[in-house]
Amino acid sequence: MSDLEDPLYKNWVRSALSLKYLKHGIHSFVDRIAKQHHKDLLFGYRKDTGCAAKSCCECTSENLLPDHPRNGCIQKFRSKCFCNNTGGRRKCPNHFCSRFYDLIVRAHDERNPIWANTDPARWFGDHWATSQCFLGTTGYSDKHTAVETDASGLLSIILNNIELRSHLDCPDNVSKARDIRNEIMHSTSFEVDDEKLCWYVDQMILVLQDKKELINEEAAKNAVVNLTKLKRNQIYISEEDVSEMRRGALSAAQDGIKHIEKKTDEVMHRIEVKRKQVHEDIDAHFAKKMREQDKQMDDKNIQTVDESDVDNEAVELTAEEKGKRVEQI
Ligand SMILES: [Zn+2]
Ligand SMILES: [Zn+2]
Repeated sequence: MSDLEDPLYKNWVRSALSLKYLKHGIHSFVDRIAKQHHKDLLFGYRKDTGCAAKSCCECTSENLLPDHPRNGCIQKFRSKCFCNNTGGRRKCPNHFCSRFYDLIVRAHDERNPIWANTDPARWFGDHWATSQCFLGTTGYSDKHTAVETDASGLLSIILNNIELRSHLDCPDNVSKARDIRNEIMHSTSFEVDDEKLCWYVDQMILVLQDKKELINEEAAKNAVVNLTKLKRNQIYISEEDVSEMRRGALSAAQDGIKHIEKKTDEVMHRIEVKRKQVHEDIDAHFAKKMREQDKQMDDKNIQTVDESDVDNEAVELTAEEKGKRVEQI
C-alpha cells in the first residue's frame, strides 16, 4: 500500500502543504512592510543623529560593539548581547552599525533578537538582513529574501517585529498559526484526522483574511482559494509533494532541536541570575548579622567598661573612707 492510501497520513501531507500555501500568501506582504520598516529605521537614525546613515561593510558579529553602555544593556538577556563580551569589539568606525544595533533591539517585541541569522555588514543596504534579526530560531543565515524564508520564519518575523505586528488586526491568529506549524512539523505520528485538518486550514485562512491589510492582498486571496480547495479534497497530492513535505519535516525537526537548545540557554541564564541573586542575598544577610553581632559586642564592652568604672570608684571611695578613718584615729 502506498503511503498516500493511508487517509491520516495523506491528511498530514495536506496539513504540511497548507503551510506552503500560507507562506505564499504572506511573503510579499511581509517583504513590503519589512522594506518600509528598514527605511523607517534609517530615518530614525537620521532623526537621532542629525546626519544620514553611512554604508558600512567593516562590522561583523564578531567585532561590533553596540551603542548602549554595558552597564545599561537594553537587550532582554545580556548574555546574548554583543556588549556582554567586549573583547575584540569596537564601535562602528562609520558611526552606523552600533546605533543601528540598538534600533533593532528596540524594534523587537521582546528585545530579544537572534543575531546568528544576520550579518551587520548588510544592515545598511539590505532590508532582509534587518528582518533576519526578528526570526525566532537560528538556521536562516542563508535565506536572504522573504521568498526563501519558510512560513515559520515569516510568522516569527511578523510577531517579533513591533512594526510588522502593528499591521495586523489580530496577532493572536498568527501566534496560533505558528503553534499549528510546530504541531504539524514536529508530529511524530505523521497522522492528522479530518476534523483537525479543517481546523488547521481554517486558522490559516483567518491569518490570510486579517482585516487590517492582508485581506486585500492578491497573494493572500489566492492562498485562501488554494486552502479552501485543499480542505475540500480538490487538490491532487503527488509523490513529489510527499517527498517535499517529508524533507520539510526533517529540517523542522533539526530546527526544533535548535529551539530546545535556545530555550535551554535561556533557562540556564535565568538559573545563573537566580544563583547570583541567592548568593548576594546570603552575603547581605550574613553581613547584616555580623554588623548586629559587632554592635552587640561593642555595647557589651561599653557596659563592661562602665561597670568596671563603678567598681573602681567603689574601691577609691573605700580607700578614701579608709583614709578618713585613719585621720579620725
Ligand atoms: Zn547589551
Ligand atoms: Zn559598521
